Amino acid sequence: MLRMEQAQFDAIRQHGEETYPNECCGVLLGHADKGVHAVVEAVRAGNIRTDSARNRYQIAPQELIHIQRKARQQGLDIVGFYHSHPDHPAQWSKTDLREAHWFGCSYVITSVVRDGAGETARCRAAETNSFLLAGTGEEDKRLESQPIEVAATVGAC
Ligand SMILES: [Zn+2]
Repeated sequence: MLRMEQAQFDAIRQHGEETYPNECCGVLLGHADKGVHAVVEAVRAGNIRTDSARNRYQIAPQELIHIQRKARQQGLDIVGFYHSHPDHPAQWSKTDLREAHWFGCSYVITSVVRDGAGETARCRAAETNSFLLAGTGEEDKRLESQPIEVAATVGAC
């Protein structure tokens, strides 16, 4: 199960709306314990796939190292990643599976759709799903549906 507060859930979805029609991406920091991934922070990352940013995403390796280092200093682990699917369902693609390498991590996908047309068109985040990268290696890896539990943000200051 992937557990996060409303504020992080909203932040992920808002990121997808901001980068539409391109894909957004980011890293989920928190704690993994007994099959529960508790997200403490959703960190935005830049999408370096400028060649096809509408249907691909990639976080720069240096940026990922930087995020990982920062997480360690805060006593957090990387528990997952997120990205958006502009104009596509919140389901993983073959490319998503091929490029997923963090076993035991959550891969969150938010669908972002356009409402209306022309100048009044607005984009909005639709469905958000999470998938756990299961398996032991490249041969048997798979993305399995994982429930998301969103809790109300408490003690916001
Ligand atoms: Zn994808």
